Amino acid sequence: MNQRNVCLSLLVLVPLLALGQRKDVEGMRYLDENRRPAQREQIIIPNVGAYQVLKCDFHMHTVFSDGNVWPTVRNQEVWQEGLDAYAITDHIEYTPHKEDVIVNHNRGYELLKESAAKNNLILLKGNELTRDTPPGHFNALYNSDASEYIVSRDTALDKEALMKASAQNAFIFWNHPGWKPGIEGSYEWIPFVDYLYQNKTLHGIEVINGFGIHLKALDWCIDKGLTVMGSTDMHSLVAHEYDLSKEYVHRTMTLVLAKERTAESIREALVAGRTVAWASKILAGKEEHVRALFEACVELMPVHYTEEKKNGDKINYYELRNNSDLYFELDLKNGNSTKRVVLYPRSAQQITASAETASLSGEVISTYVRSDQHLTVNFSLK
Ligand SMILES: [Zn+2]
Ligand SMILES: [Zn+2]
Repeated sequence: MNQRNVCLSLLVLVPLLALGQRKDVEGMRYLDENRRPAQREQIIIPNVGAYQVLKCDFHMHTVFSDGNVWPTVRNQEVWQEGLDAYAITDHIEYTPHKEDVIVNHNRGYELLKESAAKNNLILLKGNELTRDTPPGHFNALYNSDASEYIVSRDTALDKEALMKASAQNAFIFWNHPGWKPGIEGSYEWIPFVDYLYQNKTLHGIEVINGFGIHLKALDWCIDKGLTVMGSTDMHSLVAHEYDLSKEYVHRTMTLVLAKERTAESIREALVAGRTVAWASKILAGKEEHVRALFEACVELMPVHYTEEKKNGDKINYYELRNNSDLYFELDLKNGNSTKRVVLYPRSAQQITASAETASLSGEVISTYVRSDQHLTVNFSLK
């Protein structure tokens, strides 16, 4: 096909594919019924006060480090799965495909800028600084020029490597602390990390990396005022690692409470620490943000029925609604008993309480606001 024909056929194909089945032409039958519809999931999470809840994954790899995919695949995944923002964070110090792919630490971002914009996605520039463990790995977001970073893994250069990112005014978070069990100091608040922290070179910690929650890291975030991050650290395809065929399965991500849906607003929210990590059915974050998210999503409706028992006792019936795609599991105390209430995404449950009861309290056991604490909630019934 010559250039003109290719262009013409693209013009014709795009709208038809969006509609589904193409019309057969002479000598050609199309089997579009087996094609995956080109559509974007929507993850519904209501606004939290004045903030939008942006779905973000700021840790993933491509062939420009040790990932197995070309950058554009990341953009497709992010678009299909309904995320708002992402970053490619290829390793600086580890480029095992270098015999086949020219090493260029800015290239992933450059290749994606246009696709991201076309798909209404926010793309942040990023890289993973890959020092030996401890201290381990750090992601730098909003860096300006990754070609200036230190490629040598010499431990004597660890500090300088981080300072390069700091000099570029990057937002820096510590990745997967404790990812290599058994290494002394790998899951400790070591002097190196404290130095970064004291020098305002460390801004957050990856509390959830892929399929693992680093609970001790959650406590560090809370005690030291660092931002809670959750990300996939994806190297292969998201669809290979996450069973997206199951209902309610989504990739691990950071929910960012941002004033606007822009890169600048995300930065403001990350610096202010307004995030909650979301993986599987779990939400992990600082209490105030997990609470705000819960209150924005879960709604107790007024009494819709009162049952009068033979002994004169009255029982009130209520509906508890989950207006989001998040999952909440509560242990609610009702008198002396505790009732487990599961609020699946966009669903409601019925709960009952004696008309005498002024409030129901309990724990949202699908949340962590510290390593050993769930969010406690209280519903006023009067
Ligand atoms: Zn890493
Ligand atoms: Zn990584």
